[in-house]
Amino acid sequence: MFDKILIANRGEIALRVVRACREMGITSVAVHSTADADAMHVRMADEAVCIGPNPSSQSYLSFPSIISACEITGAQAIHPGYGFLSENAAFVQAVEDHGLTFIGPSAEHIRLMGDKITAKETAKALGIPVVPGSAGGVPDLGTAKRAAAEMGYPVIIKATAGGGGRGMKVAKNEKEIETAFLTARSEAKAAFGNDEVYMEKYLQKPRHIEIQVFGDGMGKGVHLGERDCSLQRRHQKVFEEAPGPCITPEERALIGKICADAIAKMGYSGAGTIEFLYEDGEFYFIEMNTRLQVEHPVTESIFGQDLVREQIRVAAGLGLSFTQDDLKINGHSIEVRINAERLPNFAPCPGKITQYHAPGGLGVRMDSALYDGYRIPPYYDSLIGKLIVHGRDRPEALARLKRALGELIVDGIDTTVPLFHALLEEPDVLSGNYNIHWLEKWLEANLH
Ligand code: ADP
Repeated sequence: MFDKILIANRGEIALRVVRACREMGITSVAVHSTADADAMHVRMADEAVCIGPNPSSQSYLSFPSIISACEITGAQAIHPGYGFLSENAAFVQAVEDHGLTFIGPSAEHIRLMGDKITAKETAKALGIPVVPGSAGGVPDLGTAKRAAAEMGYPVIIKATAGGGGRGMKVAKNEKEIETAFLTARSEAKAAFGNDEVYMEKYLQKPRHIEIQVFGDGMGKGVHLGERDCSLQRRHQKVFEEAPGPCITPEERALIGKICADAIAKMGYSGAGTIEFLYEDGEFYFIEMNTRLQVEHPVTESIFGQDLVREQIRVAAGLGLSFTQDDLKINGHSIEVRINAERLPNFAPCPGKITQYHAPGGLGVRMDSALYDGYRIPPYYDSLIGKLIVHGRDRPEALARLKRALGELIVDGIDTTVPLFHALLEEPDVLSGNYNIHWLEKWLEANLH
């Protein structure tokens, strides 16, 4: 096992990894930009190194700064968290070239899944059902039109290098395809430096269901069921739960096994998430994330397992501490993402926290790097906390979420907390009757 791990991230996820390290008796090293000198992850880690100025390109994304910080502190392994360098194959290669361990899958698997066309082809070859779509990239408008006519409108044009819901455009009919194609391409170019796009049949009322998988690094794969992340704004998740309210144990066992077998066949190592759209009882693969997800705590809650601990174990060559048969679902868990944003437009709202009080009590977990007097810098993501609840069943989890949200105090800035208070009054949310378009429609009708 490693003695010392460097965490190449910030905010709540860096703190999350510090906590796992501490329980495992591993020394943790935080890295930070100058703007983050007073951040909670820096205070909580055993050691801290300043790796550069405020822009993440010069700090949290800088290979040389992070690798030097490992060399200075004697850290043997790097946990990337999510975002930043967590899915950067070149970084993984650089880490390995310096004799360090990357806590995550191989550069090869990250590369394979980072390109969404190759990811889809790989998934298909591994027996995973995929969304009907273009065969590979769509190089020009003529090809786009032909592909759309073949699969039937509506269609969605997506960036091959996509992520974070960017570079995606829907065309409802032939009139819309030219604009959709050209905007998706230019958005993709601007966001990812790569304008390749591909096309899929646009599903009208799917749910977003993702399967948590783990490769043990020794050729075996397991799954930890699904998360339903259908409540989304601009293709970004805001409310996640496990198990999925509409998934039966038989469906879970079937799709779970397909995913676990695929992971084993790939020889995949570490945590991963295989994302699907789910409509009328069918699963359609959309992408695989080769890292820990923001919403991993809902899975941890229902299985009583620490996924970061397992990532570290697998990276150290120790395999998983559980087998598929050990994994039994207990109750229901929900997470809401609390962002420093002002409603109704979700404008980023950084600033000083004048008062912070985290909720507590049975079945309540608050993953946040906030504290009284903390000043949220304007340079990074607006996620400032995740409130996760666990109950014996879904109604209990919902009641607990409402109670916990009522206890939470974040003063000094605006947050997305009022959105969750309102959503918990909605019959559709209470009954689990929603698809990926539900929240956008609700926001349109209620906030604008
Ligand atoms: P990203 O990597 O940018 O998150 P994904 O491929 O995971 O992109 O898609 C994000 C979201 O976009 C999905 O959860 C879903 O809401 C929507 N989406 C993607 N593909 C389709 C599709 N074929 N039909 C309908 N919605 C889609």
